Amino acid sequence: MRFTSTRGQAPAVGAARAVLDGLAPDGGLYVPERIEPLDVESLLDAPWAEVATAVMAPYLTGEGGLPADGLREAVEAAAARFETEEVVPLTVLGEADGTIGLLELFHGPTHAFKDVALTLLPHLVTLARTAEGQQGTTLVLTATSGDTGKAALEGFKDVPDTEVVVLYPTEGVSFMQKQQMRTQAGGNVHVLGIHGDFDDAQRAVKALFADAGARERLTGRGYAVSSANSINLGRLLPQVVYYVTGYAALRRAGVVAAGEPVDVVVPTGNFGNLLAATWARAAGVPLGTAVCATNENRVLADFFATGTYDARRGLVRTDSPSMDILVSSNLERFLHDTSGRDSDRVRAAMAQLADERVFDWGALPGEPADLPEGADASRHRVVA
Ligand SMILES: *Cc1c(COP(=O)(O)O)cnc(C)c1O
Repeated sequence: MRFTSTRGQAPAVGAARAVLDGLAPDGGLYVPERIEPLDVESLLDAPWAEVATAVMAPYLTGEGGLPADGLREAVEAAAARFETEEVVPLTVLGEADGTIGLLELFHGPTHAFKDVALTLLPHLVTLARTAEGQQGTTLVLTATSGDTGKAALEGFKDVPDTEVVVLYPTEGVSFMQKQQMRTQAGGNVHVLGIHGDFDDAQRAVKALFADAGARERLTGRGYAVSSANSINLGRLLPQVVYYVTGYAALRRAGVVAAGEPVDVVVPTGNFGNLLAATWARAAGVPLGTAVCATNENRVLADFFATGTYDARRGLVRTDSPSMDILVSSNLERFLHDTSGRDSDRVRAAMAQLADERVFDWGALPGEPADLPEGADASRHRVVA
């Protein structure tokens, strides 16, 4: 499959290039040219590796992509790092007014849900380097508000021909997260505490991507820059998988009937996980409302309530630092998806956000007015 930029000013690329570049050269994020329908019913009893391969192969393999057998092996190697065979088991809680399924995303090597993607991403990068014939060293730049950093370091440690650099806000991560990062083993791992918050760290990473001069100097020294943040498609696509296996587990447990929609509640920071839910839904997983859960840094919650994205506020440090984010990268992909891929509109909004820290989107994506006639609005919404 081909991938285009949300900002519409970069050439379409294949999956290998998208994974290696992380960010599109126009500053936008790569999105697949379409979401491929998935035969969910045929995967209800399938093991993780089979589901993961079925979900990701349409995007990651084929022309300009990774070899199909390589993807399957990578998925199996990543799954083997988890302490349970299901990778992300589901626990069902009974409730008077419904049933809650808890998806246990913490069984990976660093106990962050990012492990699902970050145990796989290094394999995808290695396959992509071979597919593209990339020489030299892949420099994996990563901004973190806590969990991504450790999971990226652990995933990329001692992977040949890669160096991983993590920027974290010195005062903006938990004690445990800081210790996890600073004690990381591996010969290719670098951890930098910055003065500032996560948004500053993410801005610094994105600025380096956008700085043609800096990139040229790095190229001269044999480095190609990539990213382990969820701006990278290779971080995002693996997250679609657990909405399929989670749904399948609910079906197997008999708490959901065929066709009955399942609402999802997703703690949100950079909007990667929630975006993956909307892609799973678009692929045919019967998900209902997607609830965007935030903490005191409720920029996204306010956005879904008002249609205005307003980052003109101070960042509040909370006990959930992974959600302490004011500029949420993957919302850009969601706006692109739900505006009928209107890259001009997305580019204008992102330029305004960079200049003024605020933009008005108006009619909210997924509101009934935006939907094709006859579509069931409750099946398309993201709410706060
Ligand atoms: C990463 C993370 C989040 C935010 O997820 P996004 O995909 O960036 O929205 C929320 N909670 C925890 C514990 C995390 O590790």
